[in-house]
Amino acid sequence: MINGNTRLLCLLGSPVEHSFSPTMHNASFQKLGINSCYMAFDVKPDTLEQAITGLRTLGFVGANVTFPNKEHVLSYLDFIDPMAKKIGAVNTIVNNQGKLEGYNTDAIGFIESFKRFQFDFKNKKIALLGTGGAAKAVAVGLLFNHVSKIDIFSRTIDKASGFCKGINDETLSAKTYADLDETYPYDIVINSTPLGMHPKEGQSVIKSDQVGYIDTVFYDLIYNPSETEFLKLARLSGRKTMNGLDMLIYQGIYALRHWFDFDESLWTKEDVVKILEASQII
Ligand code: NAP
Repeated sequence: MINGNTRLLCLLGSPVEHSFSPTMHNASFQKLGINSCYMAFDVKPDTLEQAITGLRTLGFVGANVTFPNKEHVLSYLDFIDPMAKKIGAVNTIVNNQGKLEGYNTDAIGFIESFKRFQFDFKNKKIALLGTGGAAKAVAVGLLFNHVSKIDIFSRTIDKASGFCKGINDETLSAKTYADLDETYPYDIVINSTPLGMHPKEGQSVIKSDQVGYIDTVFYDLIYNPSETEFLKLARLSGRKTMNGLDMLIYQGIYALRHWFDFDESLWTKEDVVKILEASQII
């Protein structure tokens, strides 16, 4: 029931109409008895500063930020969490008594999604395919979890080198796909390119059955389709595979934990899956 005490949250991005965040967060408020409402607003970088002023003026609890605003928003906030600073992108804003704080829950969402494997990241060797914003969150999440090596694969060595310089950590090395045969095996191979997703279904940057060893985890950040060509090849050769759905769910759960104190056992990954299935989002 919306009343005079209802507090507001929102998503700032463009486009936003297909986002699952409003469905997920409004369902969580209902289940947890939180008197709040979450809306999606189509905001591009040229009006982002005004939108952020609006959050302050109207006393929003917080917000999520998505494409194309995740990097631009940093300059309008009062505090940036160290992990978000290292990634150079914020996806969650918390209004802490008028002070706007920026966090990035994509990195923790990615790390948390490995829970099902009880995975220990320490000293692991990683191949990360692609050099976009999602790859940056993943790389920083892995660094904060003490992996020993992250090879960044790109179609051009200049882009891979630029990515590594941006993060500036000796754990990262720049590679092109031509180097793959000499560099494997890896403990985790991660696809952070859009290949495999509409309209590039059936495509994969690498033949995943050719790299890694039997315990290698093949991870695709794509969650729709649930099994990309990259994952299918890995599965058929008996490797562990995971798509990006758990990452997506956990980034939302961690955003919620930034905004509200609640009993975490009352709003779990399984609860979110049920909501997404009921809404035919997955
Ligand atoms: P992006 O910036 O569009 O692309 C990432 C990188 O993929 C590019 O920098 C490029 O690297 C490579 N790439 C693009 N087109 C390619 C092609 N035709 N062939 C080979 N490589 C290509 O995307 P992003 O925002 O980082 O997102 C990456 C993927 O992760 C998307 O599929 C997105 O949906 C997914 N994602 C999932 C989650 C989740 O929660 N599960 C969160 C964020 C993103 P080079 O130019 O260096 O080769």
